[in-house]
Amino acid sequence: MAEKAILYDPTRCTACRGCQIACKQWNENDEAIPTVENGVQSSNWGSYENPKDLSPSTWLKMEFREVEAGGKVRWLFNRRSCMHCTDAGCVKACPNGSVFHHPSGFVSYNKDTCTGCGYCVEACPFDVPRYERNIITGIAKMDKCTFCTTAGLDRIAENLEPACVKTCPTNALVYGDRDELVAEGRKRVASLQQKGWSNAYLYGDTELGGLHVMYVLDDHPAIYGLPVDPQIGDITIAWKDVVQPLGWAVGGLTLVGLGLNYLFARSKANAEKENGNEARS
Ligand code: SF4
Repeated sequence: MAEKAILYDPTRCTACRGCQIACKQWNENDEAIPTVENGVQSSNWGSYENPKDLSPSTWLKMEFREVEAGGKVRWLFNRRSCMHCTDAGCVKACPNGSVFHHPSGFVSYNKDTCTGCGYCVEACPFDVPRYERNIITGIAKMDKCTFCTTAGLDRIAENLEPACVKTCPTNALVYGDRDELVAEGRKRVASLQQKGWSNAYLYGDTELGGLHVMYVLDDHPAIYGLPVDPQIGDITIAWKDVVQPLGWAVGGLTLVGLGLNYLFARSKANAEKENGNEARS
């Protein structure tokens, strides 16, 4: 299966937030969309951004930034959601394989086996996964963008583009083979640089082994609120590469020990039984 990706081009984005709503609707997180019918209220907190942050029911949100440059104020838009990293901290941190790489390269997860330990939340360099605990059952589950692969709502398996891409009216979002999108992204960046945007940059081309959501930036990543050099923390690496293998090794040795103990006890019992038989005969 070819590696897939999304290319987001903020220079074409009008911040209509259609993608944000499409994400909620397709993934059935729309109970939190304020409407007259459902009585959900939202309030103005001094920004066009709404809601304020990602949450278990908001897997994608548009961010708005006012940035001063050269005596002018620029109004920048940014897509905030899972970046679907190749070298994914959440995949490394998850102790039971509930977060994993789909054959297409993006990061999927199994909510049924998630124990809500929260390690993925701590390990994500983009601060994306969210989890909440059910106050009645005490059970916690992690949620984030699934690249539209939620069971029963799987668009990718049906050869459909993700809901956010499908709804984008300006083609600021494009879905396709990652190789082709990298080439397209580099072309757009070169064009921006020719027009004088000397800091133009294809974010996600190489970060964390290559992201499956890439950004055509006309300026430095920090201007858009993106981490300049995202890294997985040493603790997460140590957890995955040292502690977990060590745990498996110790577990394996324990099993071997128990097996040997069983064999030894059994042969001893057999020998005693044979000795008893000989003594009687
Ligand atoms: Fe931007 Fe497209 Fe999302 Fe509208 S739907 S906010 S234009 S990316």
